[in-house]
Amino acid sequence: MVDEKSKAYHERYYKKHREVILEQQRAYRHTDAGEKVRKKADKRRKRRKVGEPLTPQQWGQVLEAFGYRCTYCGRDDIPIEQLTRDHRIPVERGGTESIENIVPACRTCNTKKGTKTEVEFRLELKKEAADGAI
Ligand SMILES: [Zn+2]
Repeated sequence: MVDEKSKAYHERYYKKHREVILEQQRAYRHTDAGEKVRKKADKRRKRRKVGEPLTPQQWGQVLEAFGYRCTYCGRDDIPIEQLTRDHRIPVERGGTESIENIVPACRTCNTKKGTKTEVEFRLELKKEAADGAI
């Protein structure tokens, strides 16, 4: 909880000493410790841009839209609770949590896909199928 009184005090203090504080912050940013803090904040900011994970309702919509089957192997005999949320573009690679980026995948496919994008993974599956056909 934020202490309102101390918040007001800090606000007043900040206004009064704004220039000095900003100068101190500028100087701090160029130290090793400051650099570390800044990098951490950058990461956090990036993470926030990713968005909130789907609500159970949204996930239900996705499952319905995809016919309750794994997008990649097409299996439709997988219990709902075992269908996982796959990021078409993995978050590590710039994907977001938005509903357009989420598809249902069985654990086997999701694990196999790893940090590949949907396109890369589908190409791999295609190649595997072609190899198997020879
Ligand atoms: Zn699958």
